[in-house]
Amino acid sequence: MKMTKIRNKRPHKTQTKGRVIPNGTRFGEAAASLAEIGRTFHTRGWVLGTSGNFSAVISREPLRLAITSTGLDKGSLAPEQFLEMDEAANVVRGDGWPSAEALLHLAIVRGADAGAVLHTHSVWSTVLSGSHAALGGIALEGYEMLKGLEGVRTHKHREWLPILENSQDMIELSEHVSKTLLESPGIHGFLLREHGLYTWGAGLQQAKRHVEILEFLMEVLVRSGAAQRG
Ligand SMILES: [Zn+2]
Repeated sequence: MKMTKIRNKRPHKTQTKGRVIPNGTRFGEAAASLAEIGRTFHTRGWVLGTSGNFSAVISREPLRLAITSTGLDKGSLAPEQFLEMDEAANVVRGDGWPSAEALLHLAIVRGADAGAVLHTHSVWSTVLSGSHAALGGIALEGYEMLKGLEGVRTHKHREWLPILENSQDMIELSEHVSKTLLESPGIHGFLLREHGLYTWGAGLQQAKRHVEILEFLMEVLVRSGAAQRG
């Protein structure tokens, strides 16, 4: 006798590594995309070891983010390792804890009206944020690749990448991030001193593009010697 499968209207589910992620939900889709982006960034050397963290807004009212769980190797990120977090950084879905830096993601989502936030720890951002810390930031100007940043139409654009003092006090640091976004509303990212890059976008693909553009430009600055010339 032939068995007939009955499909109900609940989200389709996929079994992966012992945990169940509902496909077709905003959380499931965001987790899958974030995991793929994380693995790609790892191959580029931008999030080696357990460094970096990634999030995407899946609901505004109430505010909910899909975000990386802390302490995971970014080279083997899987969708089921993501957490759903509320506006106070409480976990509402998934096992594990968000990074202490989750507070920075929330500050950026609110302050820049971002739909996705990506944070990398590349060699270039570590070098530049150290060498330019006293200047308070880095000016990126004259490069064709600047046009990859949302809203930028010409290589003559001057992009200011602020450098914030690094801290382990995430409440204080998130307040500093909010203040920076308020004072410089047009920026596409900022650096934490000898730590890494934070950038964001209206959505995940835009945020990913901003990482690629800013990481490219920082690498150019260091390799060309332009960073040393000021
Ligand atoms: Zn970090």
